Amino acid sequence: MLERRELFPQVIELNLQARRRLGCCVYLVFSGSEWMLMDIGYEDTVEELVDMIRQMDFPLANCRYLIATHADADHVQGLQRAKQLLPGSQLVAHPEARRILETGDRIASFAEIPAQGISISMPDFAIDREVAEGDKLTLGDISLDVWDTPGHAVGQLAFRFGKLLFSGDNIFRDGCVGSIDAHHGSDIPAFIESLKRIQASSVEWLLPSHGPAFRNDRALLQSAIDRLDKYQHMADFGTCAVDWPLLDEWELELAKGVLPE
Ligand SMILES: [Zn+2]
Repeated sequence: MLERRELFPQVIELNLQARRRLGCCVYLVFSGSEWMLMDIGYEDTVEELVDMIRQMDFPLANCRYLIATHADADHVQGLQRAKQLLPGSQLVAHPEARRILETGDRIASFAEIPAQGISISMPDFAIDREVAEGDKLTLGDISLDVWDTPGHAVGQLAFRFGKLLFSGDNIFRDGCVGSIDAHHGSDIPAFIESLKRIQASSVEWLLPSHGPAFRNDRALLQSAIDRLDKYQHMADFGTCAVDWPLLDEWELELAKGVLPE
């Protein structure tokens, strides 16, 4: 038997449970003997995670949901393997994440990044249930509210559970946000809206998909919002920017024949 180390009541994070970094954050939420997992990470850690869950005395037959917060390989590669070990569970994803996973879109899932030599094998996915904004996931006598929080990726979900928000790759404790990449479906204006929504909410704690949980610190959120607001008008993330004011200035200068000073 393993003693359960709850991060918050009814919430266990499996890296914290193991006291070492296994991969992305894997949240186990439970109500009575029923439980669910949010993300799972890579296939090669699935058996260790499931074994740990068994040792914490959660009946394996009582896993109701295996959730993909979004379609990134480092979050979901192991979900199909987990489903084999937890056959009573449903694989749950947003319709856009389902499309990426079921069509094997290796660019959008970050399974294939040739410039960095990344090529990750992905299983054939079959998602059992789609959820999106406004849905509720019920588990025993609790329920989680589904939020659509696009920006880092299309089809990225967050889940509100009382004062907690399972916040995916929206923002991390150091103020970094999930990577911005047009091929991945990133959308900076949508990202800003997702961050503003989190910031304005009464959620007190953010439970991200990477790194430790942290307070919903409005100033930290604002610094990320301000940074992304700048990116919208900069070439740095040009494939995701909405405009580039330098080119407007240049047009005016060209018309006047302005020379460098
Ligand atoms: Zn991630």
